[in-house]
Amino acid sequence: MPKEFDLIAQYFTRPAPEKMVGVGDDCAIFSLRAGYDMATSTDLLLEGRHFFSDVDPYLLGRKALAVNLSDLAAAGASARACLLSLALPSVDEAWLAAFSRGFLEMADAYCCPLIGGDTTRSLDHITIGVTVMGEVPSGKALLRSHAHIDDDIWVSDYLGAADLALRYLSGSLPMDAQRLHDSRAALENPAPPVAFAQHLPGVAHAAIDISDGLAQDLGHILKASQCGAEVHWPMLPVHAALHGLPLPLQQEAVLAGGDVFQLCFTAAPAQREKLQALAAEHQIALHRIGRIISGAGLRVLDQAGQPILLAHQGFDHFA
Ligand SMILES: [Mg+2]
Repeated sequence: MPKEFDLIAQYFTRPAPEKMVGVGDDCAIFSLRAGYDMATSTDLLLEGRHFFSDVDPYLLGRKALAVNLSDLAAAGASARACLLSLALPSVDEAWLAAFSRGFLEMADAYCCPLIGGDTTRSLDHITIGVTVMGEVPSGKALLRSHAHIDDDIWVSDYLGAADLALRYLSGSLPMDAQRLHDSRAALENPAPPVAFAQHLPGVAHAAIDISDGLAQDLGHILKASQCGAEVHWPMLPVHAALHGLPLPLQQEAVLAGGDVFQLCFTAAPAQREKLQALAAEHQIALHRIGRIISGAGLRVLDQAGQPILLAHQGFDHFA
């Protein structure tokens, strides 16, 4: 389908940044700075599973890159370049124009140029695969396995809104137009704190991005670091769109709701002032929610110090 490939070339091909070989050769090529390691990550987005078929393609383009940039943030890496693979059942020019505009705007905003990829016709449905490549000072990448006992646990931004919007859009909660309006951007237009996170190596210990729910993702840190955690419900940053909803619904959205694409990380208490200053500098709302303890597993305590039990821990990719 040569004509269709011309269209895709038209929407996605841009001149390569200086000192990079971009779209148009067999490989894209760029060099890393001396003293840096490459951090790379890839994510698949499937129509009907990770996004609704009628989602705004401009926002989908932004989110396709944002979810990958979020993984770079979790490593404390800065973005260098990305690759995009698209499988489309047909070529819809209006869709492609909006999708590519969103994707490339995000790439510009985060200094993460698109330097290659692949396109093909799918039998059914849209599949989007994005790979990001970033760099982090050698040996300094933030890992899930580096939490220390007595570390503070921090999260960026506010929690629960993406899950609330998903519940309204999927019909699992009766529609509330105002709350959907207030929560929808969190689901459809996430903004991972990449610029802030690249200052965390050497300051924070362990980190992860919240993609499948705080309880589950913090659980990955605890398992990898062989420790436990105590988190306090009154310290959790509940998104304003959730205020006034039944408490169990708020707790489930905040603790088990996915699609957040913000950071959860641990750091020594001695770093509190430095972290708050960094957060202010990057206009990040940063919240201390609990601490790392010896033992295993996550305990979330309510106002009265009683453990909160959740029906679901988070998103299960094979459910
Ligand atoms: Mg991740």
